[in-house]
Amino acid sequence: MSRVLILATGGTIAGTGIDPQRSWAYQAAQLGVDQLVQAVPELVGESLATRQVAQLDSKDMGVSTWRLLAQALQEAMRDPAVDAIVITHGTDTLEETACLLHALHDGCKPIVLTAAMRPATAPDADGPRNLLDAVRVARSAALRGEGGVAAVLAGRTWSARDVRKAHSHAMDAFDGGGEPPLREGESWPAPMGWGWACLSAAPPRVEVITSHADADGWLVDAALRHAASAGPLDGLVVAATGHGTVHQGLEAALQRAHQAGVVVWRSSRVARGGVQAREGDGECDGQGGAAAAWPAAGSLTAAQARVMLVLTLLRQRLQPPQRPPETSSIAPAV
Ligand code: ASP
Repeated sequence: MSRVLILATGGTIAGTGIDPQRSWAYQAAQLGVDQLVQAVPELVGESLATRQVAQLDSKDMGVSTWRLLAQALQEAMRDPAVDAIVITHGTDTLEETACLLHALHDGCKPIVLTAAMRPATAPDADGPRNLLDAVRVARSAALRGEGGVAAVLAGRTWSARDVRKAHSHAMDAFDGGGEPPLREGESWPAPMGWGWACLSAAPPRVEVITSHADADGWLVDAALRHAASAGPLDGLVVAATGHGTVHQGLEAALQRAHQAGVVVWRSSRVARGGVQAREGDGECDGQGGAAAAWPAAGSLTAAQARVMLVLTLLRQRLQPPQRPPETSSIAPAV
């Protein structure tokens, strides 16, 4: 039987509450990984290894925790006693970690993320079932020689490239942004294999800004002024309206940011579909351009696009690009 390593990072799956009837009143990241395993009778006595990598509410996720995770994953990739890895995570930023792993994973062992919408003390706790499913999916993926990244939640398996939280409190809270779940035995999308070294450089500052009624770019101009004293603003992801349109006031401010050297990408604030790249995207004319010219983030959510822009800029810091970032296509990234 293939051996699975469970890496725990916290989240609601490890959360506890005082009153089991009030499942929303709890603290995330309280139980250790071995307690999570002990709550699943089917896993007791199985060939599993565990490691507590972090213990946090995933709203507080960031590069420092991703580095710890990357270190643990690199060790697991080298360890002949590990065939597959399961990561327990909070649901709130699972899509960002999934996207990061999909971009960076360059090994040949499967990685499966899982989480829970109810704390471990709730009568309807979904963590034990999700953890069991994740271990089973990881095992069968290892047997097939799968080397990608997936997320197993509420009985379904999603590609790490597509998965996102689509409901704030339902038990079945995740979807694929319009993409269907992976079928049993189906190959997972190949990870991009950028490698973990990306995370070793100092991360660029990339912020997300939303286009909305009356969006006049006030925040962008404030950020540019602040950057003059507090350190550079490297990138902005705009969560645009519809299929990538931006309020003209915000668009003008983004153009000022672009002229100040900030890389701008377009995602959509709409839950599904994203912003598909069109001919001419990424070729700003330096005269003001048009919102339609900002590179499109494909099907990524704004939060995922931010992760990809951070990683893209990190890679360019490590290997200077042949072309400026705003002219390069981000389509292959997704
Ligand atoms: N705030 C929690 C977290 O993301 C929510 C969850 O796990 O469901 O860690």
